[in-house]
Amino acid sequence: MGLKIYLNGALVEKEDAKISVYDHGLLYGDGVFEGIRSYNCLVFKLDEHIERLYESAHTLLLEIPLTKKQMKDAVVRTLKANKLRDAYIRLVVTRGTGDLGLDPRKCKVATVFIITDNIVLYPAELYEKGMEIITVPTVRNVSEAVNPQVKSLNYLNNVMAKIEAVNSGYQEAIMINALGYVAECTGDNIFTVKRGTLMTPPQYMGTLRGITRDSVLALARMAGIPAIEQVLTRHEVFNADEVFLTGTAAEIIPVVKVDGRRIGAGEPGPLTRKLLKAFRGATRSQGTRYSL
Ligand code: PMP
Repeated sequence: MGLKIYLNGALVEKEDAKISVYDHGLLYGDGVFEGIRSYNCLVFKLDEHIERLYESAHTLLLEIPLTKKQMKDAVVRTLKANKLRDAYIRLVVTRGTGDLGLDPRKCKVATVFIITDNIVLYPAELYEKGMEIITVPTVRNVSEAVNPQVKSLNYLNNVMAKIEAVNSGYQEAIMINALGYVAECTGDNIFTVKRGTLMTPPQYMGTLRGITRDSVLALARMAGIPAIEQVLTRHEVFNADEVFLTGTAAEIIPVVKVDGRRIGAGEPGPLTRKLLKAFRGATRSQGTRYSL
């Protein structure tokens, strides 16, 4: 038996998990999503992810045909059906099937699907040696157009930036906002450490309020490390003592070079290591528990 996908209330085989070519998620990128992880039968920050999903949908006037509780139950049901202890969970809600026009009123009911699968991780070596990243020309969407807080299916802004990174031989890239300040990376948030203070750009810079980002800020404060939201220029990133990225899939990735500038000593810094350890501890000790 293959992988089971949750699709509109039913668990179906991966091969049978199909949606209409008239679905506006596909035609217009009209929909929202979340990427979540489970660690040893604990779903990390499930409530926070569900909350963000419903907030994204609320802004798009997209009605999700499940309560938050039903959505959480659906996630757990899918994990159990696939007997996954450690998983990457992709939760997607689209506007649903409509006609070829933009008008969302033609879509009578949202499409909901949940994929739970094995997670593809960055190589362990990257966490030991650190990553090299660059800044790319594509600027982060302005909040007044497509707000980066809305985790929508329209991810072309990030895809364009990713292409530019890959074209230059890098896996991740810093995206600058329309004002020239650092926003975030294509699928991760960015942090700097300077003289013991942890900094990350505030949301109004065009920065997604990442759930890993929030966890890291909280863990730092609990450990007595000063942690603030701070507007950052590339100059400040280049001259930071430490730089790292955060995201559900990546957890915490040390960055050792940005646009050819060595960061700090050119190796993962002590605070980055400390926070990665604390974060991994949290992911393995807290969350929504399920049994297989
Ligand atoms: N920024 C962007 C653009 C992202 O897509 C993601 C991944 N969802 C993040 C940041 C990190 O967010 P999180 O920690 O919630 O995964």
